Amino acid sequence: MKGYFGEFGGQYVPEVLVPPLLELEEAMATYLPDPAFQAELKDLLANYAGRPTPLTLCPRLSSDLGFNVRLKREDLLFTGSHKINNTLGQALLAKKMGKTELVAETGAGQHGVATATAAARLGLTATIFMGAVDVERQKVNVERMRLLGAKVEPVADGTQTLKDAINEALRYWITNQKTTHYCFGTAAGPHPFPTLVKGFQAVISQEALTQYQTIIDRLPDLVVAAVGGGSNSIGAFAHFLPLNVALVGVEAAGTGEPGCYNSAPINLGRLGILHGQRSLLLQTDKGQVLPSHSISAGLDYPSVGPEHAYLNSIGRARYGLANDGEAVRAFFTLCQTEGIIPALEPCHALAWVLAHKNEIDPGSEVMICLSGRGDKDLEIVLANLHFQDEAHKA
Ligand SMILES: *Cc1c(COP(=O)(O)O)cnc(C)c1O
Repeated sequence: MKGYFGEFGGQYVPEVLVPPLLELEEAMATYLPDPAFQAELKDLLANYAGRPTPLTLCPRLSSDLGFNVRLKREDLLFTGSHKINNTLGQALLAKKMGKTELVAETGAGQHGVATATAAARLGLTATIFMGAVDVERQKVNVERMRLLGAKVEPVADGTQTLKDAINEALRYWITNQKTTHYCFGTAAGPHPFPTLVKGFQAVISQEALTQYQTIIDRLPDLVVAAVGGGSNSIGAFAHFLPLNVALVGVEAAGTGEPGCYNSAPINLGRLGILHGQRSLLLQTDKGQVLPSHSISAGLDYPSVGPEHAYLNSIGRARYGLANDGEAVRAFFTLCQTEGIIPALEPCHALAWVLAHKNEIDPGSEVMICLSGRGDKDLEIVLANLHFQDEAHKA
């Protein structure tokens, strides 16, 4: 069935959203295979965003662990994370469709900034919905979006966070579908967004595969990435899926205390429907969506893209957990052993590798998707300095 990954995915939307989703699907079929579109996107990614990103060996950490850890450096991209891969792709597609405006949701503001950036570069206007609580918590990113010419609309509904911002952005799209493209921020939501976003993030594993083949002359044994909605991880997995490479997605276990809020719908959720897709979802016995929590705002989402739920169900990828404290310890480890200040999201992936080091064969090649840089998280880290003494020492 269209837009399904096994029993996950689909298009659970009000009737009025069917036409713009169909229009988007048709535009994907028209423009994405077009060599002229691909050339234009490649130029933007290379000369504006900074691709290809390096594949960096961590020499000190590797010699201590007994296997090679290499980082796919999405943190070095313009605006500081993998999100620009997706927003440049969608902004270019929107332009081809004759749209003049992007609408987007944002939680911590990373996707909002990446959308505002792509809109400015391609001459589109941008309207960004953001929960009122998040607007308050993420003032610097709100200012960035405004400097880039975007309109930021605070959302006062519900918990006033990401989930409510998505609902409001979808409503805006219904009303303004003629002129507007909804630039969705992760590989989730109604069909065709999981496929569209995966397509733009697959450049991560496309490059990495070439780098392994040409520089290291072998495939990685294991690829590990943090899973929020699932875009950097599905991008990091995509070209390795048909190959003999183990894949691990890492979900945020929150504080790690029993019964605490978390952001781990694959490990701790059940089948449900949210934001137009059927997937695993944090919910009560009665089907109420539970609030999610993670120390890293980018992982703080109660559901997950349908392809991850599927890859888990067939056993092609494994989904592990790392809690807030483990992520912060991994942060200090990477700072002090390799001189790299990472975002807290990919620290969950590194934390999983450190916690499972005894299960990884000596001499293995392990790739971690370093999805973003840490500047945005310094305040949180400085409030958690007590984890520093417990950091893994290489
Ligand atoms: C947004 C974000 C994530 C989580 O989103 P995915 O769609 O799961 O990739 C991870 N890392 C960083 C740095 C982010 O900004």
